[in-house]
Amino acid sequence: MDLKISKHRLSGGFDPQAYNFIEAFDHRVIYASDDEDGGGGDPIDPLPPYLQRAVQSEGYSIDHCTHCGAALKAGAVFEHEPSGEHVVIGSTCVNRLEFESASEIIAAHKENRLYISGLRKAMRRSWRWKPVISFLEAACNNEAVGSWERGIAEDMLRKLSRYFSLSRKQIAFVRKIVEESPEKEAKIKARKEADEAMRKNAPDWESGRYEIEGKILSLKSVESDWGRSLKCLIQLDDGRKCWGTVPSGAAAERGDRIEIRATFSPAPDDSKFAFYKRPKLIDIVETP
Ligand SMILES: [Zn+2]
Repeated sequence: MDLKISKHRLSGGFDPQAYNFIEAFDHRVIYASDDEDGGGGDPIDPLPPYLQRAVQSEGYSIDHCTHCGAALKAGAVFEHEPSGEHVVIGSTCVNRLEFESASEIIAAHKENRLYISGLRKAMRRSWRWKPVISFLEAACNNEAVGSWERGIAEDMLRKLSRYFSLSRKQIAFVRKIVEESPEKEAKIKARKEADEAMRKNAPDWESGRYEIEGKILSLKSVESDWGRSLKCLIQLDDGRKCWGTVPSGAAAERGDRIEIRATFSPAPDDSKFAFYKRPKLIDIVETP
């Protein structure tokens, strides 16, 4: 293989960081149904002629992935920075451009092969790994399962591939969290949607000094030029929220209901949110 093409190959001088995207194309043809002679038809997304000429005049093919040599109809033209050449890279190989270096790609391949062969070995060693592995793989690919739970399933597959062992306790644990996850995720989603709907329907804040009553959602100790003070986020029953200092004399905790008189000013970018000043405690009811 000549040097010209080998610099784009994994076995040659391939540097995944050296390619700049220019234009994608799809030369597959859609035939019109009334096309009687069977010929003709237009490519879905043709490459502009000047780019086609650039690739070909520099000695490359537009029907092949320059990186792996596979024949293709769709892909993208990249400019190879050091040489200024225009080359075609297919949609599978394009993922390789995300890597830092060719050796990183080779290492990832090797690791993946070891991982797969490790899982096969585990299955050969004991019949009982087969259902565990299929359960874990299904969990990793199930989008209804939360990302934390999927991460744990992935981690266990890796352990199994490497050490051929997982305790009964670990398996029971991962089964439990994976099985409970879709319901948990659905609840989180429903709560977020309800919060968002409440926020949308909430009235706008008005500037001025008046009384409000709401629930303390969170507390935070904040440092300022005047020292440390305790701030809180209060949500009113109508969905509006406000933020300010916990009034003196209030032993406030998260979840408590609080009634204050304060001076409110709506946030510049959110009319459902206000900041308050000079709060005076009227009443506070602890959560039981
Ligand atoms: Zn390729």
